[in-house]
Amino acid sequence: MRKRIVILGGGYGGLICARTVRTHLSPQQAAVTMINRHPTHQIVTELHRLAAGNVSQHAVSLPLERLLKRKEIALQIGTASSIDIQGGGIRMDSGDSLEYDVLVLALGSETNYFGIPGLQENSFSLKSVADANRIHAHLVQQIRQFKLTGDRSDATFVVGGGGLSGVELIGEFADELPGICRRHGVSFEDIRLYLIEAMPTILPMLPPHLMQRAISSLEARGVRFILGCPVIGMRDRAVSLKDGTVIQTGTFVWTGGVKGNPLVAGCGIEVERGRAKVNPFLQSASHPSVFLAGDCAVVMHYNGKPYPPSAQLAMQMGRRAGENIAASIQGKRMKAFHPQLTGTLASLGRKDGVGTIGKRGITLKGPAASMMKKASNVRYLSSINGLFSLLQ
Ligand SMILES: Cc1cc2nc3c(=O)[nH]c(=O)nc-3n(C[C@H](O)[C@H](O)[C@H](O)COP(=O)(O)OP(=O)(O)OC[C@H]3O[C@@H](n4cnc5c(N)ncnc54)[C@H](O)[C@@H]3O)c2cc1C
Repeated sequence: MRKRIVILGGGYGGLICARTVRTHLSPQQAAVTMINRHPTHQIVTELHRLAAGNVSQHAVSLPLERLLKRKEIALQIGTASSIDIQGGGIRMDSGDSLEYDVLVLALGSETNYFGIPGLQENSFSLKSVADANRIHAHLVQQIRQFKLTGDRSDATFVVGGGGLSGVELIGEFADELPGICRRHGVSFEDIRLYLIEAMPTILPMLPPHLMQRAISSLEARGVRFILGCPVIGMRDRAVSLKDGTVIQTGTFVWTGGVKGNPLVAGCGIEVERGRAKVNPFLQSASHPSVFLAGDCAVVMHYNGKPYPPSAQLAMQMGRRAGENIAASIQGKRMKAFHPQLTGTLASLGRKDGVGTIGKRGITLKGPAASMMKKASNVRYLSSINGLFSLLQ
């Protein structure tokens, strides 16, 4: 009998899973439906560039309909509001509902505010194209306002979080703000850029000399680092730090943490700190008809620690989940998931970067790292037939 496969989420994990399922199962064997909140597949790893105005929206926001063309995958745009795990059904915000035999949860993660007072209400997040557009419009508005008011808080831009997204964002700000200032008759000398991180280091996944290299590169372009000092509160236009420092700013972007997707956390499958627990085949540890891909699940390393959520991991999970769904429907053996992580690259603005590549962790810095980062995006776009986004 034809199986009904529903894939929730059209990000890295969901898209790769859908494409993989279709390479193994014909429309006669399985009806595949993808549900996604937006009509586009968003290149989340490039959002910092959109936020700073260094890339156009169509380069990071690809119509899912085009990416799924001729794949015989039904696309439903909308927000899933609840999952009936026992009954095998999805309910949408619109009131529509859908039944499944096999469900893939690939819903990503959400920003974690750790209960810090005022943070959620007064900061920007960077998780979607809409977020990035909001930040960019605000950036320009703040510069315009500074020109009129001379208020130093209008010219102060603060990023919270020294992981990949925070460091990449402050790097883009450092490169793009001089041009924005020039266009609005403001001196870049008046701009204050801060990166705040609770831990004593930034980019903890990279060796210390690359972390130091990232700091000196960004400091040379005007970024001030406050490390080892947690944010404890945010109200109106003031960020408070644990050491008593208060920074007056009209712009605080919080990239300091992610947490599991609430729909996954609350649907009744086994979770750990809000992220789904999986068996070696990427099935839910408690419900084998549910497969997982990406940030909404937790995959354990053999050292007992979870792998950090990343696009690379989400894509590999999507591929293996898709293969295992096909195997289970065809009565074949499923294969265990073993991530093959090939390094981490962080851009530091337009022309600089740091990172490691390959199993031996070869280190890269400067334009070579920056080019590798761009090349990995092109390789990904090519793998999903999305190169058109770079040509428009
Ligand atoms: C600014 C930034 C830079 C980053 N840089 C890197 C990097 O350089 N390298 C790296 O490896 N990782 C990076 N990451 C992390 C990476 O982007 C994530 O790990 C990756 O996006 C996870 O993929 P996913 O498929 O799990 O989720 P996503 O790509 O977030 O996709 C989830 C999808 O589910 C949809 N969705 C969610 N809830 C619902 C709902 N209720 N109903 C319908 N649809 C829903 C969303 O709209 C979205 O399309 C970065 C993240 C950020 C924010």
